Amino acid sequence: MSINKLILSTACASLLGVFTFQDDAHAYRNTFGTLDHDRCAIFDDSERPEVSLPYGSGHPMVDFFVPDRSKGSPTPDVWTGDSISVATGLPTYHKGHLGGNVWYITDGVYQIMVIVGRSEVIVVDAPPSIGMDLNAGPFGSEVNVTIPEIVAEITDNPITKLIYSHSHFDHIGAAGVIKEAYPDVLIIAQKLTKEQLEVGSRNPNFLQPRPMTALPDVPLPDTFFFKQRNLAIGTRGTRLELRYMGPAHEPGNIFIYQPNEKILMVIDIVFPRLSPFELLALAEDTGSYLRAYDQILEYDFEMLIAGHLNALGDRADVMEAKTYMQDILANSKTALNPFDPLDPNTFPIGIAGPTFFGTFVDAAFVPGPEQTVDPANGLGVFSLYLNQAACKCANLTLNPETTPSGVDWRTQIGTADVNTVSHCWKMIETLRVEPGFDP
Ligand SMILES: [Zn+2]
Repeated sequence: MSINKLILSTACASLLGVFTFQDDAHAYRNTFGTLDHDRCAIFDDSERPEVSLPYGSGHPMVDFFVPDRSKGSPTPDVWTGDSISVATGLPTYHKGHLGGNVWYITDGVYQIMVIVGRSEVIVVDAPPSIGMDLNAGPFGSEVNVTIPEIVAEITDNPITKLIYSHSHFDHIGAAGVIKEAYPDVLIIAQKLTKEQLEVGSRNPNFLQPRPMTALPDVPLPDTFFFKQRNLAIGTRGTRLELRYMGPAHEPGNIFIYQPNEKILMVIDIVFPRLSPFELLALAEDTGSYLRAYDQILEYDFEMLIAGHLNALGDRADVMEAKTYMQDILANSKTALNPFDPLDPNTFPIGIAGPTFFGTFVDAAFVPGPEQTVDPANGLGVFSLYLNQAACKCANLTLNPETTPSGVDWRTQIGTADVNTVSHCWKMIETLRVEPGFDP
């Protein structure tokens, strides 16, 4: 009896409940519960790309100060700010002039846009972390400053309008601080953002508690729009265009565009020079998320305020990120196809045979150090199979010889070795269950 037949018969016996599952089934989630490349074994380990490097190695480090791949887009070469970290001696934020009446402020983790008019100021977003000395222990020290205090370093004009890019607290949780400083501020959001804020507590304090003062509740928008609103501001007929084009990140997330300076702000879609935050940056609708890359590129923009870390993006960054997503989509389709037993890229396990059912059985028999699922637990076996498919997709994506673009993403963008597997998992689930997904 060949080894394959032996294992196949054992597998079938196990499903009848007479087989004690071996102890060496492979784990695909680490002790923190996330999918782990170290556990993404494929059958022939010698074929496996070296993706199992420790976190932070094998790709450009995430640099919270000056990105090493600036590509000519404006990034802070000098950190400015009147607030100095007690821990590092460095400013706790950077405010950068992007041209015309547009500024941006970043703490190295979040970004906001500030537009200075003749006698007014528009601020887009209010993350709780901006202004805090994040290096001084648990969320800060006495040097913490507020967004209104930072804006006051740019202009004496009052903040008259506050725009919410979307409803997530990590981007607007300090909005109440602006409202307290400027009670007459007009808060503008898309209708679905307003509706989401209306159903919750709007209390963001669990997120990032300030040491001295609790954050006020996030104020509801005073006014909302559905598709588009243009705001006139400043001199020379400058305007700010707010547009909703679908739930690219979540329902209500908008595109914010200043055409004079060709500056676009879209939050939580593209992470310039990085793999996005896990699971397609928590996109609620994968199809809309993928379409957003083209929607961004339809704008005549030169600078992108993407919301996270300190670097701004440019068109090349968006096109690069789109290529990465196209690779993940193609490799997800490949990883989902279990029906080619001769192709190790489409059928990496190959024990129980090239059938849909056989693939589930195989998934429970990938050799490895830890048992993670009892084969009698059919749902557990299926979950293991999906994780295996995500691992397969990630390994294809991170190997320049197997990914369609031929790009070595591990060295091209930061955190690809860590985050790619979760993007694959999300993409595979979308392919598997969403009839409306037509990439
Ligand atoms: Zn978000």
